[in-house]
Amino acid sequence: MQTQLAPEYQNTAHGQEAEAILRKCVHCGFCTATCPTYQTLGDELDGPRGRIYLIKQVLEGKEPTRATQVHLDRCLTCRNCESTCPSGVQYGHLLDIGRQVVDEKVPRPAGERLKRWALKEGIPSPLFAPAMKLGQAVRGLLPESIQAKVPPKTAHGAWPTREHARKVLLLAGCVQPSMLPNINYATARVLDAVGVQTVVAGNAGCCGAVKFHLNDQDGGRAQMRANIDAWWPMVSSGQVECIVVNASGCSAMVKDYAHALKDDAQYADKAGRISAMARDLSELLPAMLPELAGRLQGRVHFKGKLAYHPPCTLQHAQKLRGAWNATWPSWVFRCSPRAPNRTCAAAPPEPIRSCNPSCPGSCAHASSPRSMRPAATKNPR
Ligand code: SF4
Ligand code: SF4
Repeated sequence: MQTQLAPEYQNTAHGQEAEAILRKCVHCGFCTATCPTYQTLGDELDGPRGRIYLIKQVLEGKEPTRATQVHLDRCLTCRNCESTCPSGVQYGHLLDIGRQVVDEKVPRPAGERLKRWALKEGIPSPLFAPAMKLGQAVRGLLPESIQAKVPPKTAHGAWPTREHARKVLLLAGCVQPSMLPNINYATARVLDAVGVQTVVAGNAGCCGAVKFHLNDQDGGRAQMRANIDAWWPMVSSGQVECIVVNASGCSAMVKDYAHALKDDAQYADKAGRISAMARDLSELLPAMLPELAGRLQGRVHFKGKLAYHPPCTLQHAQKLRGAWNATWPSWVFRCSPRAPNRTCAAAPPEPIRSCNPSCPGSCAHASSPRSMRPAATKNPR
């Protein structure tokens, strides 16, 4: 694709990166066929090729409108289009640039600004945990729509106390400790069972994805730097083998620290090392299976069928499409993998297991009558 950037973007880091990405696109449209928002809405501008054109036009000097902003907002950032693209177009990075450039020129309605601010400041805030605790205490009294967003309190069991020579850092995350604490505790117990000690750095927090993807990219980068600072003593001294992340949206973000901080002279090298050490938990499990299987045999009695949902952040952002689920012994459970290029757009009949805590909720939401799909078809001018 030929490009002629407007003077304001020439010789800027964003302009040069966007231009390099745009020039790889050959307009073939293969990506459109696998885009969930195009499949749902049927509008070229709600597919990757259309959004690429919109971003190109803005970078070439065309004034963006509210409609441009909404077409970019509707992108799920699932990056299915990247998996399909034969030319290696890094759509996700282009979209980040496009969203930032458009938001600088198109003011959002006040209600939307407030909602986005509440999400980006509220979710990673220290106040989220007490708010969740309160919500769980009065869950039965809440309207159904809010109840669906407040999971019942779950028992998390004990954190292992044994020390091991092999150690890993775990990103505890921002909402997971209060919403679904059993995930981090279970992760630590599984790793302990195979002789690996899990360490959580006290000052690490949100991976930065919430702010970054709500277009507060500077706020997201500040959280990335804070995590790097929290992890660095253990990383630089070689005390930990890797940084384990058990939510695929967060592992995708940590693996992208190297790119997000590439222009930061103070943090670029550290970010590169942190990204190289990040592992989604599903990358570690296959090697542990023989030992885990021996310990589980005779203790697990679940004989039902589960639907395994491989999240987009695992399949497309991290390119982890290995069938680790298929390697589980059949006496543990039988997995029914969902069609590999689908996002959480429809719920299967079986109980869902996923590598990202928000995905089962999205599947359930997609199958409910409250699904936002009808509202999303309105196009502003
Ligand atoms: S990231 Fe997903 S929703 Fe966005 S354009 Fe690509 S395939 Fe479509
Ligand atoms: S598949 Fe790749 S090269 Fe083809 S239109 Fe989509 S982004 Fe461009």
